[in-house]
Amino acid sequence: MDVTVSETLPLCPQCSSAYTYEMGALLVCPECGHEWSPAADDTAPHSGDKVVKDSVGNVLADGDTVTVVKTLKVKGSPTGIKAGTKVRNIRLVDGVDGHDIDCKVDGFGPMQLKSSVVKKA
Ligand SMILES: [Zn+2]
Repeated sequence: MDVTVSETLPLCPQCSSAYTYEMGALLVCPECGHEWSPAADDTAPHSGDKVVKDSVGNVLADGDTVTVVKTLKVKGSPTGIKAGTKVRNIRLVDGVDGHDIDCKVDGFGPMQLKSSVVKKA
């Protein structure tokens, strides 16, 4: 039998054999007979590759420039950050209370914003 081995198939989790093959939705190891579902791996937590989206659903990335879409109250500032303020060079973070953007706002200094109040510029 001629078995085609794809480089994209994972090693057998039981015996680390590289000769796994697909059988329908399952992966099968011919060496130890183990069968498993590769989709099950997707339930593992993917910390670190969280997708951060702006208020309209654009995916944000480190270094992006965004525009604030609504006026934000800032402690100690009478005006706050006005809607339309451009924020350059954002950094995505896993901040507290849903604040997932770390940035520096002109006139305000470094702060954290929520992605839901910005739009990719
Ligand atoms: Zn195996």
